[in-house]
Amino acid sequence: EAKAQGKGRRVTYAPCLDQHSAEQARTAADLRVALDTGQLRLHYQPIVRLSDARTVAVEALVRWQHPERGMVRPDLFIPAAERTGLIVPVGQWVLTEACRQAARWRDELGPDGLEYVSVNVSPRQLREAGFAAQVQATLHSVGLHPRHLTVEVTETAVFDGGSGLEELHQLKRLGVNVALDDFGTGHSSLGLLRTCPVDLLKVDKSFVDNITDRGDRSVIAEALIGISDGLRLRAVAEGVETEAQAGVLRRLGYRYAQGYHFGRPMPAADLAAHVRAAHPATVG
Ligand code: C2E
Ligand code: MG
Ligand code: MG
Ligand code: MG
Repeated sequence: EAKAQGKGRRVTYAPCLDQHSAEQARTAADLRVALDTGQLRLHYQPIVRLSDARTVAVEALVRWQHPERGMVRPDLFIPAAERTGLIVPVGQWVLTEACRQAARWRDELGPDGLEYVSVNVSPRQLREAGFAAQVQATLHSVGLHPRHLTVEVTETAVFDGGSGLEELHQLKRLGVNVALDDFGTGHSSLGLLRTCPVDLLKVDKSFVDNITDRGDRSVIAEALIGISDGLRLRAVAEGVETEAQAGVLRRLGYRYAQGYHFGRPMPAADLAAHVRAAHPATVG
C-alpha cells in the first residue's frame, strides 16, 4: 500500500498495527517456504505417571528450524499461521508426522511403550470442514489406531462457535481422545465439560507454578482435580518444574504430569532413548 502511493512520499503508519501485520505476512510467507522445504520439526515432550515418573505418552510440539534464525518456537509463528490460514497445511503436516512417529514407536517400543501421542489443534483447524475425516484418513494411512491419538484443543476453540464441537463429536466416534489444553485459562464456563466430549484435562501451568508456596496457592489445582475425578476424566498437570511441585500434585491426587522436571521437548530419537533408559530405573 505504501509503495502504491508513490516513491519518496512519506507515509504515516499506525505503527504497531501495520508493522505487526507486515511482520506477520512476512512470517507467513517464510513459513510457507519452510513447510515446502522441510524446515519444520516435531519435538516430543514426555507425559509421565506421577507414581513412578514413567513416560506413558508424549505431546508433539512443532519447531521451525530456520536457516538464519535457528530453532524458532511456536509462539513466534503459530499466531501468524492461524491468522493467515497457513495453520491448516502446517497442522496437517504436524498431524501426519506425529501419527507416523507414534506408529513407529508402537513397533519399536511395543504395546506397553507409549499409550498415545498428543497433537495440538488450533481453532481454525478444528473448524475446517471435514477435519475429523482428515484425521481418520491420516490414521488409516499411517496405520495408527485412533485410541493412540489425543487431540488437544483449547476451551476457546470449542466455544468459538462454528463446527468445532461437531468435529470433536466425530473424532470421539472414531475413537480419538480429546483433551482440553491450558484448562482453566480460557473464557469458558465449566458447563463446557457437559457438552464437550472430553477425555482429559490439561491443567494449565499457571495453577502449578506457585503450588508449593505457603497459603492457598494449591486451592485451584485441588479444585480442578476434584472436577476431573468427579467427571471421571483424566488430568495432566502441565509445566511441572520441580520435585516439590510433583510432590504436592501427588498429594492432591494427580496421577499424570508433564514438565521440564520430567523431560523437555526433544527430537524423536532422543525420546525413544529417554523412554528406554528411564523404564528399568522406575520399576518398583
Ligand atoms: P501447549 O500446548 O500448552 O504446550 C506446552 C508448552 O509449555 C510447550 O511450549 C512446552 O515446551 C512448554 N513447557 C512444557 N513443560 C514446561 C515447563 O516445565 N516449564 C516451562 N516454562 N514450559 C514448559 P512450546 O513448545 O513453546 O509451545 C507453545 C505453544 O505453542 C503450545 O502450548 C501450543 O499451544 C502451541 N503449539 C505447539 N506446537 C503446536 C502445533 O503443532 N500446532 C498448534 N496449533 N499449536 C502448537
Ligand atoms: Mg498442548
Ligand atoms: Mg498446554
Ligand atoms: Mg499451557
